[in-house]
Amino acid sequence: MDIEEFRSRGKEMVDYICQYINNLPNQRVTPDVEPGYLRQLLPNEAPVDPENWDDIMKDVEKKIMPGVTHWQHPGFHAYFPSGNSFPSILADMLSDAIGCIGFSWAASPACTELETIVMDWFGKAIGLPNDFITSAKGSRGGGVIQTSASECVLVSMLAARNQAIQYLKKNHPDVEDNMFLPKLVGYCSKEAHSCVEKAAKILLVQIRILEPDENGSLRKEALLDAMEKDKENGLVPFFVSAILGSTSSCSFDNLMDIGPICKAEPCIWLHVDAAYAGNAFICPELKYLLAGIEYADSFNTNPNKWLLVNFDCSCLWVKCRMKLTGALVVDPLYLQHANSDEAIDYRHWGIPLSRRFRSLKLWFVIRKYGLSGLQKYIRNHIKLAKYFESLVRKDPRFEVVNDVRLGLVCFRLVAPDNVNQNLLATINASGKLHMIPSMVRDKYIIRFCVTAENAVQEDVEHAWKVITEHASELLGSIPVKKEFVRPPLTRQKSKRFSFTRSVSKEMYKRSKSKSNLYDGATPILVADSDEENENSKKDNDDILETLANITVMSEDDDVFNKDCEDAYRIQPQSPKEIACNGV
Ligand SMILES: *Cc1c(COP(=O)(O)O)cnc(C)c1O
Repeated sequence: MDIEEFRSRGKEMVDYICQYINNLPNQRVTPDVEPGYLRQLLPNEAPVDPENWDDIMKDVEKKIMPGVTHWQHPGFHAYFPSGNSFPSILADMLSDAIGCIGFSWAASPACTELETIVMDWFGKAIGLPNDFITSAKGSRGGGVIQTSASECVLVSMLAARNQAIQYLKKNHPDVEDNMFLPKLVGYCSKEAHSCVEKAAKILLVQIRILEPDENGSLRKEALLDAMEKDKENGLVPFFVSAILGSTSSCSFDNLMDIGPICKAEPCIWLHVDAAYAGNAFICPELKYLLAGIEYADSFNTNPNKWLLVNFDCSCLWVKCRMKLTGALVVDPLYLQHANSDEAIDYRHWGIPLSRRFRSLKLWFVIRKYGLSGLQKYIRNHIKLAKYFESLVRKDPRFEVVNDVRLGLVCFRLVAPDNVNQNLLATINASGKLHMIPSMVRDKYIIRFCVTAENAVQEDVEHAWKVITEHASELLGSIPVKKEFVRPPLTRQKSKRFSFTRSVSKEMYKRSKSKSNLYDGATPILVADSDEENENSKKDNDDILETLANITVMSEDDDVFNKDCEDAYRIQPQSPKEIACNGV
């Protein structure tokens, strides 16, 4: 492709993108394909000869698009938003064209310097203390853009591990670093993202996953208790990962409570993970949620979640940059340059050497919208979430199970888990909406997140209509109508509903860690069985043998009648009379 072809194809691509976006509301949210669909459509070998651009684009339309989940669709309410906006897309185009690899200042000075400047802008807009702002007087901290929140947590834990090892070495200077690893123990709550557990696994340290209070907040009592026990056993608490805006229910740890506990220990690093919620702190009225941030050693938030910046853009600030780089610096001669001492070399702030020019998109977005435009965007999502919450609260069949402060509403039918699971499965299978489940206080819940940039009240009303229609159909017809019998959900089929991962009942029972259920980013759906046969439908003693119970309903089905009684605390007269819709 020469530059003239690029010029015309590039313009065509912009047209294609505009058409894609305009046409989104007419599409299913999730694709209607089976795993492996694409292998049948594409050749097994790469083409030897160059192909025509038009043919490639035809295949995009015919073969790729039918397998795309439309994260920017107005009916997409799963996970958290996947940041996206025109200024951000344009910035990424430019960044790709510049194509620099900004690992050091010298490797592309603007790439490094713009990153420092926008991280200061953004950090100040959020309300981070001056210690985190590179340009603030006397500050030893600063910000860096990482690929993901998981990486922010990993490098923070790495810095913490290094700090703890240096501390322990003071009394044992001759002991090798790795000999201290078995002593180190970190803490987070059950609400924390699974990336904390993963980081501990990578870094070979122990992690205690503590029980939060009834609001999903980690409190000092639980933390103190665990730390005291560990210290009695000769272990060294070295890291706490607190959470502001948890993935499963958008709950907030109490930093004012746990911050002082961490500071009282000789070498605890307090990290604050606010991947989603942190972006909202640019609104003055939400800064109260950041109370206690002065106790933190590091803080992360993802503009690629909730600030209209495309993936990847995950912002990490540290209070002491030397502690971070101290854990990561290796300095071979070929990477040194004349200005090494005066300039930031971001390769020492993270794992990869190579870095994209990511600050461009954050800079474009902040400038094009202005902080006021971004605040308006955040406030609109919150307003719509509260509106959705009010609709749920008006319907006695449902309950809201989280404290709705930002854009996430967790709700459920007042009915056993299996009924809720079936409701979500049928809604997702309809292709009209997409939501994912999670567990809140040991109950299966459905997460509704406002995600589209220009979401409006009608989208929320539409979503609620789809949800209530499915609920009425499910609750009203199961005991009496045969049409609603759903065929057994096999592992193959269940992938369509959960699409990232699913397990069978058998696998679920066998698996020791159920932590994936608490992780809103990893939906699991318990399928009836591994195979297409349904032999496993016999044993229904386990509440988590969910969907199987409802698959074959007969008029005198005890299991369902029991569900209805539990749900509405009414005595069914006879199965035929059960209406179950909002008595
Ligand atoms: C989404 C999320 C993560 C993981 O983010 P990645 O950037 O995908 O690694 C971590 N923590 C919280 C609180 C999240 O919401």
